[in-house]
Order: sequence, then C-alpha cells, then structure tokens
Amino acid sequence: MLGRMMHQPLLISALIEHAGRYHGATEVVSVATTGGIERATWAEVAAHARRLGSALMQMGLHQSDRCATIAWNNRRHLEIYFGVAGAGFVCHTINPRLAPEQLIYVINHAEDKVLFIDRTFLPIAAKLAPHLKTLRAVVLMGPRDDEAAAMVPDLLFYDEFIAGGDPAFRWPDLAETSPSSLCYTSGTTGHPKGVLYTHRSTVLHSLGGNQPDGLALRAADTVMPVVPMFHVNAWGVPYIAAGVGCKLVLPGPGLDGASLVKLIDGEAVTLALGVPTIWMGLLAALEESGSKAPSLTRTVVGGSALPPSMIPAFRDTYGVDLIHAWGMTETSPLGTLNQLLQKHQALDDDAKANIRLGQGRPPFGVELRLVDAQGHELPCDGVTQGELQIRGHWIVDSYFKAGHSALTIDGWFDTGDVATIDADGYMIIRDRSKDIIKSGGEWISTVELENIAIGHPAVANAAAIAAHHPKWDERPVVVVVKAQGAEVTEAELLAFYGGKVPHWQVPDKVIFVPSLPLGGTGKVLKNKLREEYGNVLMPAEGDAEA
Ligand code: ADP
Repeated sequence: MLGRMMHQPLLISALIEHAGRYHGATEVVSVATTGGIERATWAEVAAHARRLGSALMQMGLHQSDRCATIAWNNRRHLEIYFGVAGAGFVCHTINPRLAPEQLIYVINHAEDKVLFIDRTFLPIAAKLAPHLKTLRAVVLMGPRDDEAAAMVPDLLFYDEFIAGGDPAFRWPDLAETSPSSLCYTSGTTGHPKGVLYTHRSTVLHSLGGNQPDGLALRAADTVMPVVPMFHVNAWGVPYIAAGVGCKLVLPGPGLDGASLVKLIDGEAVTLALGVPTIWMGLLAALEESGSKAPSLTRTVVGGSALPPSMIPAFRDTYGVDLIHAWGMTETSPLGTLNQLLQKHQALDDDAKANIRLGQGRPPFGVELRLVDAQGHELPCDGVTQGELQIRGHWIVDSYFKAGHSALTIDGWFDTGDVATIDADGYMIIRDRSKDIIKSGGEWISTVELENIAIGHPAVANAAAIAAHHPKWDERPVVVVVKAQGAEVTEAELLAFYGGKVPHWQVPDKVIFVPSLPLGGTGKVLKNKLREEYGNVLMPAEGDAEA
C-alpha cells in the first residue's frame, strides 16, 4: 500500500521559483568583477536563470551535460547555479587556483560543454582552451567586451547569451536523483575527485542544514557568503538563501578584511560565512577601521579548525555569535554545526565558548560514528579518538566516473578525519589522518599545537607539521607567522607551551616564516610545508658518519 499524499520531486528549480515569486523584490547585491556594486532582485535573478536555461537548451545540450564556471561570488554566478541545474544540466564549479594541469584535467574529466568565466580568469581560459577537448563555448560573464573577444576565439558574452533565451521558459520535470552540480576535491595528492550532487541531495541539504540549530537563515537576514561559490556550493548558501528569500550580498573578488567591512556596514549584513583565515583578516580590518559592525549578529566559520581566540574576539567587541561548522566536499558540505543544548544555557560565557570551540553536532539527516583501524566502532565518550565516518541524505556514494562505491561495506563514508564524539554527539576534529603527528606510536594533534601558538599575542598564524625524526619517527615542528610589528623568539614560544600540553607534545622546533602557503580555499597547504620542512630534524648528510 502507498500513502496518499502528493509526490513532487525535490528540484532546484523549485527553490529559485519560490524566491522569484514570494521574495521577488528582495535584493541580491553583487560586487562586479570590474568593480562597483550591482543591485538586482530575486525576481530578476529568477528571470535571468530561466533565460539561461532556455539558451542552453537552444544550444542543443543534452540532459546532464556539464557546464563549468570559473568565477567569483556574484549575481551571474548565482543565476548560473540555478539556470544550469534547473534546466537539467550540471553546474561544475571550478576552483580557479588549481594548477593549470589540474584545471585541464577536471574540465576534460567532467567533459564540460560550456565554460562560464569571469573577466579575471580570461587569460587562464585563453591559455587552456587548446587543451580542452569537449568545450563547445566559452562565455564571458558580462556584457560584450571587444578586448576580451580578441583573447579567446569565438568568445560569447553572458548578457547577450541570455538575452536570446526565452523569458517564459518552463523548467523541465526531472527525476530528483538526476545530477545538479559537480565539485572536485582539491586533490593535494593524486587527481582531484568529482562529487556529483543531485537535486534531491541539494534540496535536503538546504532543509536539513538550515534548521534553527543549523545555519538558520531567515527572510529577514542579509547574508554574505564569503566562502567561494567554487567551493562546495558555497556551503549550500545560494540554495538556502533562495529557499528562504533573504537578501544576499555576493562579495566578488575582494575578500580582504577592509572590503568586507565596507560591505558588511554598507549593506547591513546580519550573517556572514567563511573560513577562519578570512575572519582573521576581517577582525584586523574592523579594529583598524574602528567599525563595530553593528548589523552583524552571526558568523559561520568552517573549513578548517577555529582558533580559540576567535569566539571571544567576535563576542566581546562586536557582539557577534560565532558558529563553528564542519564538513567537506563529499558531505555537501554541512556535517556538523555547533549550537548549545538546553542544559548549557546556565553556563557562563567562557564555558559556553569552550563547548562551541568544537565542530558541533550533526543536524537531522546525517549521522556520525568513530571506528578504529580495523573498522570496529569506538565509544562516543569524548576521549577516544578514531576515524570519523558519516552517512546521510547528502553524503557522497561514489565519486564521479569512479565506477565503484566510496563507502565502507556497511554503507558509511570515511572522512579521513580523526575525531572524538561525546555522549551528546558533540564532535571534535583532532586532525586529518594524513596530518596527525605520530611520535613514537603516540598521536599528537596538530590542531591543538596550532591553537596554542595562535593564542600567543605575537603570533598571527601557525601551522604544526610532522617532521621526520631518527628516534621518534615523527616529531612536531611549528611554522609561525609573527603578528605585524611583534617579536617573539623560538625559546619564548616553546616555553608558552609549558603546562598547556604534556611535555612530550611540545614542538621540537619553531620556524618563523613571512607567510604560510594557502590553498584555493584559504586552508594552509600542510603537504607543502612538510615537503619544505619535513627533514629539519634529521641529521644532515655526513653527520651520521661523523
Ligand atoms: P580540501 O580541504 O581537501 O579542499 P574539503 O574542502 O572538502 O577538501 O575539506 C574538508 C576537510 O576540511 C575536512 O575533512 C576537515 O579535515 C577539514 N575541515 C572542515 N571543516 C573543519 C573544521 N571546522 N575544523 C577542522 N577541520 C575542518
């Protein structure tokens, strides 16, 4: 017997239709790649998305064909998210900071038919074009531009392209399990792997991730996703924003603290989302500008571990609630968000902040567990560390074109993170399994060592890495960027670890550097640091014989 309720497939087109119809007058503000602010509404975004879907159909694309973007967070990118997926194609967002050979690899692997690019990335497109086998069109995301036309043969222009689309275009009925977007993991080793999201997983992620203890976007919010739209669907914010009809502020290419302060104050942003390095820049710029960011009530931070000083920094000076979240490309990405339970309400601010430093709890829709190296489930006691596994409605099942499952035999996805989970379900990432330091058989968390270093007033940023060691196999080394104008010596910093970790976890060495190598999404590239400094504790050649 079946139930007797309507069945409607969960489709991305329904999200943009909702925004256009019920929040049509609400603003979508966008910083243009060429500078200046562009103002549109959800009604205009929806209309443009429909025209775009129609124009792609007219090109003769087939269902599930991939259309790629190399672009900043802006209004046209938003329209492409909805127009491409809504019309039954797949929006393949590409990280522009991938190495050229990786860009060529992902575009050819995805068999992209159309490439939408921002002006900034035109030189890249010109260089790559001869290597891209499947492309039928490159579309510059802007109006006609003769200078650009001279750089890429047969270049099309977005504004003209969608002008040829049908404004009365009706979104096709699709199976909710058809693919909607594609994002490749950064692939620090080996080729990047593609995660192919479905309409269903995206809509369920929007609903599940936006619960009151989740991102909790509302129509009354003004939301600024600083997290790039080329990185895991900007954490789902474009879809969620359409579903709730909030005002959206898309910051374009300028992600430095000063530009963000200007936007937050100018547009009265209430909620902003991004990685910790972005918020470090924002805090510094706020201090410099003297702005108290009066409109801002919440920031969501994720993508890498949250430095402990950040919660009180936002709370005490700006009255901003900082929400820590964890996820990955394979998890759409929202896997956990950190909000307090009823029993925590009576705690003082510092005790609350201490709980909220962790990565948080899974929303309804995903589940977590810990296992040991043999795959046996470990206790959730807040102490036992294990490999973190996840399953749920918006978790990858197999990588694009891999031809085999990415899951354990009993249907869980292994995240590659090492974590603890407590009895209430609060998860703390202790490390990535490939970063953790294995010193004489004991594990040392790089995250913990970094947090301590960053807690020193003379330190702007720090990364702890495993360095080879003749006796202990690996020992911790911390690579440190000093705060501007501040001074600290290696001995002072090592002394600062005293009493904060067991003495055998104190790093063997501090290396001062002017800056840390960052990947395309603002995360420290620890493999680069390991390549450079991995042997600093090994005896130099010749020493052994001496
Ligand atoms: P990549 O970093 O390889 O580009 P992802 O963006 O998918 O890939 O990153 C996912 C990984 O980032 C997680 O497995 C985890 O190690 C790390 N990560 C994400 N959020 C957090 C967080 N809040 N705290 C610590 N680590 C995090």
